[in-house]
Amino acid sequence: MAKIKIEDGKLKVPDEVDIPFIEGDGTGPDISRAAKLVFEAAVKKAYGGRRKVNWIEALAGESAYKRTGSWLPEETLQTIKEHIVAIKGPLTTPVGGGIRSLNVALRQIFDLYACVRPVKYYSGVPSPLKHPEKVDAVVFRENTEDVYAGIEWKYDSPEARRVREFLKEEFKISLREDSGIGLKPISEFATRRLMRKAINYAIAKNRKSITIMHKGNIMKFTEGAFREWCYKTAKEEFGDKIITEAELAEGKSQDSKIVIKDRIADNMFQQILTRSDEYDIIISPNLNGDYISDALAGLVGGLGVAPGANIGDFYAIFEATHGTAPKYAGLDKVNPTSLILSGVMMFEYIGWNEVATLIESALKETFLKKIFTYDLARQIEGAKEVKCSEFAKAIVDNM
Ligand code: NAP
Repeated sequence: MAKIKIEDGKLKVPDEVDIPFIEGDGTGPDISRAAKLVFEAAVKKAYGGRRKVNWIEALAGESAYKRTGSWLPEETLQTIKEHIVAIKGPLTTPVGGGIRSLNVALRQIFDLYACVRPVKYYSGVPSPLKHPEKVDAVVFRENTEDVYAGIEWKYDSPEARRVREFLKEEFKISLREDSGIGLKPISEFATRRLMRKAINYAIAKNRKSITIMHKGNIMKFTEGAFREWCYKTAKEEFGDKIITEAELAEGKSQDSKIVIKDRIADNMFQQILTRSDEYDIIISPNLNGDYISDALAGLVGGLGVAPGANIGDFYAIFEATHGTAPKYAGLDKVNPTSLILSGVMMFEYIGWNEVATLIESALKETFLKKIFTYDLARQIEGAKEVKCSEFAKAIVDNM
């Protein structure tokens, strides 16, 4: 059997493992081919045939629609369900009708409540910062709630009218008659499980601090509560492993404990620019997390470089953070780094750390040799511009 199993509350990964791979739309097949080349070479190099990955083709997006008539075929959902861990390229979001977003659907179906985005600088990559090497953060973004829960009504819909009437009658709150309405639910349950995941990650990876990014000064019972529940989880469940910034200020000693602090969301955007090295793990509700992840990615080379994963209690889908870049589809041109680094996260997740380390070191080496795809090459003097597949081959050569 080549399937990952859950045993005694842990993932059990066989030496020959099946992993579903959704190549995706647009440039998805280009970057997927490149990523597979790198993954397979690294597994071979690390384990010399003792371990192996079998990629299971899974369809989603426009390519799935063309072949099966469904944007997210039942077979794909069943495959992910059976295999627990999957990797995917970008998907075209269907315009008008049907599923709002395939990515959101996947997150909801498998309850992938944490969007995890590590953002790290690699020497040689262009950055707008003077000291980009100070950026080494991991964003834990809540994935299921907030204004992204999709509870909203168009301004002229009967539902919006009824909600406006309800608010007026029950709470004496008057909204303009032409107001669209959206809801922002944030629960203690979802906040606490995310914070738990972030702290466990910090402990496992030896990280120094967790910053709660919120706008609780204005949205007191949603983002303010998020902040409170994060602190509560840290104190109640990890009391001996954490210390708050306030306790440090009172003179308590850190004793290599993880520092828990919080910052107001707008301030965070200037903090990551001016004091990048003070931010390690950042935890936030959905919308803040979406913004700060991309802002951080911009500091280290952009979305073509930044990886991501959507993780639940066991289920995990690793994915490139950028879209399908359709104008470059089939040109063997775009940067496969985001998907390759998402694969690095995936190999760490299944405990194949040797593979992850090999790929990351070879990637660093490739950047240092000034070998880049067009997106980064155009920003660097003396860069050697290569195609997507050539970039992957260069990484393999540098292993
Ligand atoms: P996009 O596909 O991310 O592309 C925007 C621009 O970003 C590209 O034109 C290109 O910039 C740059 N870029 C993206 N990926 C790159 C890569 N691998 N290497 C180098 N440069 C890269 O965003 P979009 O045009 O807004 O969206 C296109 C489609 O993707 C839409 O259907 C959208 O819904 C979908 N989408 C899917 C996901 C997902 O599946 N996770 C995420 C976002 C968007 P230059 O033009 O400057 O070269």
